[in-house]
Amino acid sequence: MVRAVKPTRKRDGRLGPPQGYPKDPEKYGDPANWKYPVHTPFHARAARRYFNEPRNRAKYTPEEQAYIDKKINEALERFGVAVKIKGGTIEDEAGTIQADVPMNKDIDKMGFEDLLLVFLGTNRLASAKGIDPSAVEVDKETDTLLAGRVKEYSVRIDRQERRLEHDCVDFKTNRATGRLMCKHLGAFLMRVDRPRAIHLLRDLLRERDHWTFE
Ligand SMILES: [Zn+2]
Repeated sequence: MVRAVKPTRKRDGRLGPPQGYPKDPEKYGDPANWKYPVHTPFHARAARRYFNEPRNRAKYTPEEQAYIDKKINEALERFGVAVKIKGGTIEDEAGTIQADVPMNKDIDKMGFEDLLLVFLGTNRLASAKGIDPSAVEVDKETDTLLAGRVKEYSVRIDRQERRLEHDCVDFKTNRATGRLMCKHLGAFLMRVDRPRAIHLLRDLLRERDHWTFE
């Protein structure tokens, strides 16, 4: 993990706060250059999006990037934006950014890939796709219960009890940071009847606080 160091002044940096923006440098991901304001959930989200772009990150050293990531993540966490699902671990942040958790009204418009991306993030979604389909078994598939195996791990998703059970290490450790799924669950859901999987994921996303993951 890279040590976080406050960015230095940059040639294209601002000399002061943009009009209408906070005058407190601490409200910026990059205080020295008055960039990446994180004073509202909207701005923190936007900062996250802009700072995920490689050409923006490239203006900073890895240490400075770590600093800005940290500031943005802390702001997101403070505002409760997407953090429950995002996790917010700093060491692998750049590679595992997850899509923002959408508003409820938008969840109904989301397709299978969009939904998986929210739960898995880019890296895990790619890993899920990399799992050989022959390693996935769906034994039970009804509107209320999905069960089976992925490699040596079991999967059980009970919609009636709102309970998702799975036993891999990634799933167990990441629950602590609020990340709800792992590559196995992604691979499992890819093998389930598509409309059923979409329905389930939308429900999970909307009602994630009422579900038990263990
Ligand atoms: Zn797993």
